[in-house]
Amino acid sequence: MYSGLVSVSYVVASVLFILSLGGLGHQETARRGNLYGIAGIVIAVGATLYHSGDNNLISTLVAIAIGATAGLIVAQRVVMTQMPQLVAILHSFVGLAAVLVGFSGYLEPLVATVGAEHTIKLVEVYVGIFVGAVTFTGSIIACGKLHGTITSKPVMLPGRHWLNLAIIVATVVLGGYFLTTETTAVGLTLLVIMTGLALLLGIHLIMAIGGADMPVVVSMLNSYSGWAAASIGFLLRNDMLIVTGALVGSSGAILSYIMCKAMNRSFVSVILGGFGQSTSVARSASDEPIHETSAEEVSEELLQAQSVVIAPGYGMAVAQAQNAISEITRILREKGVQVRFAIHPVAGRLPGHMNVLLAEAKVPYDIVLEMEEINEDFPRTDVVLVIGANDTVNPSASEDPNSPISGMPVLEVWKSHRVVVLKRGMSAGYSGVENPLFFKRNTRMLFGDAREMAEQLLGALKS
Ligand code: NDP
Repeated sequence: MYSGLVSVSYVVASVLFILSLGGLGHQETARRGNLYGIAGIVIAVGATLYHSGDNNLISTLVAIAIGATAGLIVAQRVVMTQMPQLVAILHSFVGLAAVLVGFSGYLEPLVATVGAEHTIKLVEVYVGIFVGAVTFTGSIIACGKLHGTITSKPVMLPGRHWLNLAIIVATVVLGGYFLTTETTAVGLTLLVIMTGLALLLGIHLIMAIGGADMPVVVSMLNSYSGWAAASIGFLLRNDMLIVTGALVGSSGAILSYIMCKAMNRSFVSVILGGFGQSTSVARSASDEPIHETSAEEVSEELLQAQSVVIAPGYGMAVAQAQNAISEITRILREKGVQVRFAIHPVAGRLPGHMNVLLAEAKVPYDIVLEMEEINEDFPRTDVVLVIGANDTVNPSASEDPNSPISGMPVLEVWKSHRVVVLKRGMSAGYSGVENPLFFKRNTRMLFGDAREMAEQLLGALKS
């Protein structure tokens, strides 16, 4: 009866998680999706505690209290632009948990197993520790790269593919011995060696990946951490963990696939790394003149325009310019100008970054469009305001086959009649690639902090 109740709770929690994932896919339903997720996790944790009886209840509750307090403090302190590194470091915890549970499951199994069942358990231990260890160090490196403490350029050792291959072959061979050994001490030694190799593989794989591919890497590590959680679920005989891990694992894999498609990259080429290392940079545009403009001039152009598109990027997030931009949008719409937002799938520093900021600033959802919904409209657009975006509006992606970002779909803002780029100077974007957009004849540069300039623009529009 009790185990029946636990099973029903797990089914309810699983359904809530699926509804949560569905809800998080759209801005309008994201809040509801979040609530479904919270309800699901409360039910899942409650049922698990109930199922495990009084064993270690106090220590479990103390651990939950410590974790929840740390989570609350971190969530309150972290700013939106640091969210990807927070996600990455949280993935590393899941990886570490998989490693620790794997070792404890090997040394002190929950249930004694024999024959084929024992072999399956050993495979679970081995694979779980391997995936967990790769996720652990890989996520720490991804966090360091996103935070800027580790270089965002791909770091590539000579013969790196051979090194990866050698580690994988060694892991498989050690795994063969591990499955056949009868002695726990030998098994443990093999596990420790394999864990060391997997930790190295995690570091090596992610170090070789450049900053521009980090969004994909974070979502890929999200997927790994899901599979690591599922493997813990098998070891602990916990169906809920298996279902949740599989949901996280597969949704992370699907997101990685969608992002690769958005960047016109193959998944394998991202994993193999090296992107952004190319030395054949786009033509050096720095000899050509740039045209500067002022807030007053831009406000005149905006007021005379019929159609305006705003392309926000990382700079808008850092400067927290979204409220001023939202106000500009409101005023222009009141004056009969059509204003829409063009959102690149990897604008900012995490998927959906711009959508969240714009929703926070109360920009209506129906004027916030995805790249593929608006790209064809640029030739019919009078003014495009690029607010702190760079890589996502770089024409060399489609015009220069030698560019390191060649083939990546971008917002084709240069096809409009007038482009106004709002940024502080001539620095490159996250990928470090020069941007010929700034030198185009129809481009005007409005230099300054995005928030200050947006407020000046707002003042000019009001007066
Ligand atoms: P970019 O990183 O390409 O460019 C941002 C620009 O904003 C910079 O060139 C900078 O120029 C400007 N800027 C910075 N601070 C300010 C400020 N206070 N006021 C005005 N401008 C400012 O941004 P995009 O959004 O176009 O592209 C995102 C990049 O980040 C892509 O390369 C993507 O691959 C990568 N990435 C994306 C993730 C995601 O999931 N979305 C995660 C991790 C990386 P200046 O210094 O001259 O002002």
